[in-house]
Amino acid sequence: MNGLLLIFCLTLANFAVQVSAKDTGYFWQVTDFHYDANYSSTGDPTHMCHQGNTSDNVNIGNYGNYLCDAPWQLITSAIQAMYKIHPEPDFIVWTGDSVPHVDNKDLDVDKVYTLIGNVTDELRTVFPNITIYPVLGNHDPYPANMMPYDVEGTKYYKGILDNSGWTDILGHNESHQFHNGGYYSSHISEKIKLLGLNTNLYYDQDKLTKDLADPADQFNWMEEQLKSARRKDEKVYIIAHVPPGKFELVEDMAWFYGSYNRKYLEILETYADVIEAQLYGHEHTDSFRIQFDGQGKPIGIMLLSPAVTPWKSTLPGVGANNPAIRLFQYDPQSGALKKYVQYFLNLTKANIDSDPTKWEKEYDTSDVYAVDNLRPAAMHEVLKGFNKKENEAFKHYLDYNSVKWLVNQVCNESCFTRHICAISQLDFDNYKTCISGGHTTFKPTTTTVTPITVPSYLYYVIGSMGLLLVVMVVVIGFMCFTKKRGLHAPRYAKFGSLNVNA
Ligand SMILES: [Zn+2]
Ligand SMILES: [Zn+2]
Repeated sequence: MNGLLLIFCLTLANFAVQVSAKDTGYFWQVTDFHYDANYSSTGDPTHMCHQGNTSDNVNIGNYGNYLCDAPWQLITSAIQAMYKIHPEPDFIVWTGDSVPHVDNKDLDVDKVYTLIGNVTDELRTVFPNITIYPVLGNHDPYPANMMPYDVEGTKYYKGILDNSGWTDILGHNESHQFHNGGYYSSHISEKIKLLGLNTNLYYDQDKLTKDLADPADQFNWMEEQLKSARRKDEKVYIIAHVPPGKFELVEDMAWFYGSYNRKYLEILETYADVIEAQLYGHEHTDSFRIQFDGQGKPIGIMLLSPAVTPWKSTLPGVGANNPAIRLFQYDPQSGALKKYVQYFLNLTKANIDSDPTKWEKEYDTSDVYAVDNLRPAAMHEVLKGFNKKENEAFKHYLDYNSVKWLVNQVCNESCFTRHICAISQLDFDNYKTCISGGHTTFKPTTTTVTPITVPSYLYYVIGSMGLLLVVMVVVIGFMCFTKKRGLHAPRYAKFGSLNVNA
């Protein structure tokens, strides 16, 4: 009796555990705040909206301007919107660049610590009990783009920990690792590990790290981490600021130095079975990358999130964007990303609206791309769907690329090729081949076979006809058999008679 009771209780407990285990988790990604403390609503848009001597006091908006970086009101509006939309995410991913696009002479290292610290404090105040995983951006060191890689440089990383509040958000173990080169590992759950990388060390604007084999020993560390994750059967999320590959808006514009790009992709390919997700910022645009192996099989996905700052790039041909935030859904058991929903603030409307804090849903990947996960195979299908530039999915992608700052833009053949090659070719040589229209592992011009949709009633018609055919064959077969038996002598007798006189 006691045994039966025990079995009953264990079954009940097991059932309770299964019910309580979540099958969907949520987390936010927010990136590229570029907080400019000198933004003024009566500032000069041609000078980063800073207050000039000859201002005529025209109000350019409290929530920002497309020519400028983010004022404090935009920063708090974004973080409040995250809270309002989903106040209890499992964690928050924050992928760097909190410092504005201003001259180095207008900044110093203490100002940099303070700006990053202000954003850190705001995130912690609004989300006091939520784990925040931050990484640095290329604008976060001082001078900008000069990410330290040696022992002397550890002063800077210690400065971020001590003066920008990162010791508190990172925790003891992660802070200890971060101190050596701005990167760390952490565990989201028992089976999901996160690597917060400092890919700014590979950025080709960084004069300090040019020509090194492994700046701050990060490649070596990354491989060790991935090896250990594989051994323990863990899945890995990589979060970083600068992505590898090329920019989709400027032809042949790389982010990493060539040797670092190659090495980074090699590591990703070697551990593709372990890496479940890769999240980046930096471009300020909304795009993604697919890594293929030598046989053309998709093995990795990089999701590039747009910025909070609306700042229009100084690069020719590159525009501005509306501020965006991204809410992910994932499977806490397998780590697989199911989808994300992106929210944005229409800046023009926000500056004139009576309710300027209203962030709207921009899109949901499961709706617009018709995929139920963001794994390589599914995203490869999305890319195949982009096939022709007139395609609806590609038109949506183009609108989202600037967070609807630019809608229904005309994308000619070279624009189309630039996007497709940046998305599908992370290796620099393959990218060149792709741009020049040569053979690559993914051919943008390949025609995809669209399955034909058959109305359901046709299945009944075809099924009935099939059944009728089977009945007819059986009946006719039976009739022939009985007829033959009645008319002919056994066949072997005939053959036998032929052979007798041979
Ligand atoms: Zn940025
Ligand atoms: Zn950046």
